[in-house]
Amino acid sequence: MSFRRSFLIRAVGSLILFPIAAFTKKVKSAEEINTGGCYDVIVIGSGAAGLTAAIFAADKGKKVAVFEKMPVIGGNTLISSGILNAPDPHRQDLQGIQDSEDLFFNQSFQAGHFKSNPQLLSLMVKNANPTLRWLESIGVKFKKGVFQVYGGLWPRSHYPSISHGRGYVAVLSEQCRIRNIPIYTNCEVYELIKKNGKVSGVKVLYKGEERIFNAQNGVVIASGGFTANLNKCYKLDPNLHGMKYTGAPSATGEMLDIAEKAGAQLKDLEEIQCNLGPDIGYKHRSGFHLDVTRHILVNKLGNRFVAEDNARDVIRDAVFIQPERIVFSLVDKGGFQNLGSLFQQASILGEREGEHYSALTIEELARKMKVPYQNLKNSIDHYNSAVDTKKDSFGRERWMLQEKIQNPPFYAARVKMAIHYTMGGIVINEKAQVLDKNNEPISGLYAAGEVTTGVHGKNRVGGNGLLDAFVFGRIAGESVAVK
Ligand SMILES: Cc1cc2nc3c(=O)[nH]c(=O)nc-3n(C[C@H](O)[C@H](O)[C@H](O)COP(=O)(O)OP(=O)(O)OC[C@H]3O[C@@H](n4cnc5c(N)ncnc54)[C@H](O)[C@@H]3O)c2cc1C
Repeated sequence: MSFRRSFLIRAVGSLILFPIAAFTKKVKSAEEINTGGCYDVIVIGSGAAGLTAAIFAADKGKKVAVFEKMPVIGGNTLISSGILNAPDPHRQDLQGIQDSEDLFFNQSFQAGHFKSNPQLLSLMVKNANPTLRWLESIGVKFKKGVFQVYGGLWPRSHYPSISHGRGYVAVLSEQCRIRNIPIYTNCEVYELIKKNGKVSGVKVLYKGEERIFNAQNGVVIASGGFTANLNKCYKLDPNLHGMKYTGAPSATGEMLDIAEKAGAQLKDLEEIQCNLGPDIGYKHRSGFHLDVTRHILVNKLGNRFVAEDNARDVIRDAVFIQPERIVFSLVDKGGFQNLGSLFQQASILGEREGEHYSALTIEELARKMKVPYQNLKNSIDHYNSAVDTKKDSFGRERWMLQEKIQNPPFYAARVKMAIHYTMGGIVINEKAQVLDKNNEPISGLYAAGEVTTGVHGKNRVGGNGLLDAFVFGRIAGESVAVK
């Protein structure tokens, strides 16, 4: 089977919604990949950052190619929950929500323990609304209202209409097709070529053989994080030992070493974020906790233990001191109905395998969860009365006390902390240029997205990861196009 044909089959399999014609036109001929080639810009990785960088470099008139090591495109972006933060008066005014760039900046800076690079964070914040509008203009659809995602700290989170990150990848790859940008799958970049101090191309492994591609303007690294490299994560932060990861198997982080070999400065690799996810041996990722308004967390004793609207690191530490570090995220009918279709599906499949539970009464739910009924009932009753009084003994904010847990069926998922996001990586400046150990830009080398560091400090705000990837993808694409 030809390279072109096998790519098509795999790509279509993973992106059901994507038109087949789009992929046929996008993939370059087998000869081109077999002989190597010459481009103005080479982008490594086909997630949010890489596809965005490719689009903006092409819009500056550059000949661009994207290399993707996996058989399918999209990386963690594809399987992400797809939630994007942006101040958005258009939606927020209708819901009576006040927001501003200053509030967004201050909340993100504080949540990251004031360790973010303020220039980079400020760029992300200022570009949040324009990025949302750009995505909408090219065809990404979002739900009507905003909400507060888990660890998101404010109701400015946008939920895509198509569950998870599939809508972004379908739309962005279509934009690449329109611009004749080839996306080569099964092509792993394993070396950056540097001549006279400038990065001028890449070495790629395709079917075990080396191909060389030149990049006249430069190379954008958009290869994502390293959460799937468990040994590296455990070594960098021994507290994570024994945890599973929530993401795609592509996130192994070898581009970090390759960039370092080319002179890049790496920083804060030990800053690794945890999120609620399945335990070792469990398969189905629950989305019950995503909409903070609609869920509560209880431990194995059926007791609440934390304000669920806290920053992610605060919740992580609270979960770590619960019995066996096992907790349950709990919603009612409204919370379930509000979920994306893939999360609903995961819940149904999870129930079959004893990882998720649903019941028409709290008593039945408690029995299935194997937690003491009276404790669970008290937890839910206390929470529901906090919604009435707008005062929660765990300190949940007033605006997160809106939805009671009262309508059957009731749902719960057994979850633990899992490795989710890497805040450390390649150091960049405001033009997305990669910096060397003396903080000088490396000529011809750019980076964007989760492979970089600086935006999130010690703790990423939920919904800021995709935003970072889109914003700096654009900046990298525009910068590399200017020779
Ligand atoms: C389960 C989950 C849910 C999430 N939900 C959200 C959310 O709702 N909102 C949010 O803001 N953030 C979320 N995140 C984080 C967000 O998904 C990521 O931060 C974002 O997708 C990163 O985009 P990226 O383009 O930098 O990397 P990716 O999307 O991971 O893309 C990187 C690509 O580079 C490829 N690659 C790597 N090395 C090479 C190489 N050597 N050669 C060629 N290709 C290579 C990879 O295979 C991959 O396809 C979530 C993360 C996970 C794991």
